[in-house]
Amino acid sequence: MKRVLILGGTGDGAELVNQVSNLPNIEVITSLAGRTREPQAPSGLFRIGGFGGELGLISYLRTEKIDVLIDATHPFASEISRNAASAAIACNLPHLMLIRPVWQPVGGDNWIEVETVAAAAENLPEFAQRVFLTIGRQQLASFAHLDNIWFLMRLIDPPPANSAIPQGKILRDRGPFTLENELKLLQDHQIDTLVSKNSGGDATYAKIIAARELGIPVVMVKRPPTPPGNQVNDVPSAVVWLLNHLE
Ligand code: NAP
Repeated sequence: MKRVLILGGTGDGAELVNQVSNLPNIEVITSLAGRTREPQAPSGLFRIGGFGGELGLISYLRTEKIDVLIDATHPFASEISRNAASAAIACNLPHLMLIRPVWQPVGGDNWIEVETVAAAAENLPEFAQRVFLTIGRQQLASFAHLDNIWFLMRLIDPPPANSAIPQGKILRDRGPFTLENELKLLQDHQIDTLVSKNSGGDATYAKIIAARELGIPVVMVKRPPTPPGNQVNDVPSAVVWLLNHLE
C-alpha cells in the first residue's frame, strides 16, 4: 500500500483525488490550508491546517510515511509549493506539481500585466473608477487607500477581521461562473476595469471573456515563479505520472 499526499485547495486537486482514490493499493490523503470556512469536503481521508513550514512538512511526511507528494495547490500559493518542493527533496520522495496553464491574451483582450497585486493597485488610479476586484480576500488592503475608486469585491468568505477594506460592495460567491452572470455583473455595476490573478482554468475564465466582449481593460497579475521539479498541466497527466511512480 502506497500513501499519497495531495496538497489541495483547488478544483483540479479535488478532481485528482476523485480520480485516484479508487486505484488499487494506494491510500490518498488530501491536505487543505483551512482558508475557506466551508471547504468542499474532499472524498476520502483529509487533514486541514498548515504543517508549520518546511520543517513541519518534512516531519509530517516522515511520521505519516508518505510515499508520493503531489502539489495541486493554486498557482499563487507559492509558499506551500516552495516548502513542498524542498521537503520532497529532503525526504527523497517523488514530487509532482499539477499547475494549470496560464491564460493567454487573445484578439480583443486589453490586458495590463503586472507582477504583483500591489502593482495592480498602483496602476489603477491612472484610468479606473469602478473596478471589479477578483483577487480573493487576503490582499484587499492593498487597494484600501484608493479613495477615488469604487470596488466590487467578489469573495468566497468575508474579508479578514481588522483588515483595511476598499470602499465599495462585497459580493459573496463561489465559482464556477457563467458568461451570462459575468456580463450582467459588469454591466449592472458599470464596471470600467477588471483586476484578476492569472489563475488559469475554466471555472473563473468567463469574467475575462465578459471583459473582452464589453471592451473593459483587465489588470492581470502575473503568476509567481514555481519551484523546480516535475510539472503537469492537467489531471489526466497527473494520474499517468502517479501510476508510473507507484511501481
Ligand atoms: P501559501 O501562501 O502558499 O501558503 C501559506 C501557508 O498556508 C503555507 O506555508 C502552509 O502553512 C499553509 N498551506 C497552504 N496550502 C496548504 C495546504 N494545501 N495544506 C496545508 N497547509 C497549507 O498559500 P495561500 O495562497 O495562502 O493559499 C492557501 C490555500 O488556498 C492553498 O491550499 C491554495 O491551493 C488555496 N487557494 C489559494 C488561492 C490564491 O490565490 N492564493 C486561490 C484559490 C485557492 P505552513 O507553512 O504552516 O505549512
